[in-house]
Amino acid sequence: MELNGYSRLYDMPPRCLQGLSASSDPDNVLHPLPRKWRLGCTCGATGATLHGYPLGHLNPLYPQNRTLLSPVDYECISCRRRVEILDTDIHGVASEGVRLEGRPGDIGCTAYRGEGPKTPFGCPVCGETQMSNVIAIFHYNDLGLADLLDEYPNIHLENMFSHVNFTGTCSRCGHLCEILDISTS
Ligand SMILES: [Zn+2]
Ligand SMILES: [Zn+2]
Repeated sequence: MELNGYSRLYDMPPRCLQGLSASSDPDNVLHPLPRKWRLGCTCGATGATLHGYPLGHLNPLYPQNRTLLSPVDYECISCRRRVEILDTDIHGVASEGVRLEGRPGDIGCTAYRGEGPKTPFGCPVCGETQMSNVIAIFHYNDLGLADLLDEYPNIHLENMFSHVNFTGTCSRCGHLCEILDISTS
């Protein structure tokens, strides 16, 4: 069966997660939005290190802030496979909107986006880079979705997220870490 409309939003992880195994978080049953996906490697392991660009390195207003800006890589701590999973230049409602409207020249205009070698995200309490229970939380603008569906009935609504958070549990000290918090609208 071809998924369409809102069923895609609820049943499909956004395409930025296609290199991983993403399972619907139990919370989604009670609270349809935002959509939460538990991330794992295709090998079956769920422990991971996330690599990207710490906000504190790019914005001098937040020197101690370790949360990552994109592009972001997911590295499995079991099989060591590493895959790029989120790049705000091509993922999220602003970039997807540019694609829909056929303005490819406008892709790549994100204000804060890292370049060069990536840094592993470290727990703000103990510095550990291995995280467990990594959850990606995608936020959507309800009213904007209805308009999009009117205009583009076959749209892949799951990709039209306006904000994304990742959380994970530190494998050493158990601290619940905010790994990234990025607006994509
Ligand atoms: Zn793996
Ligand atoms: Zn820790």
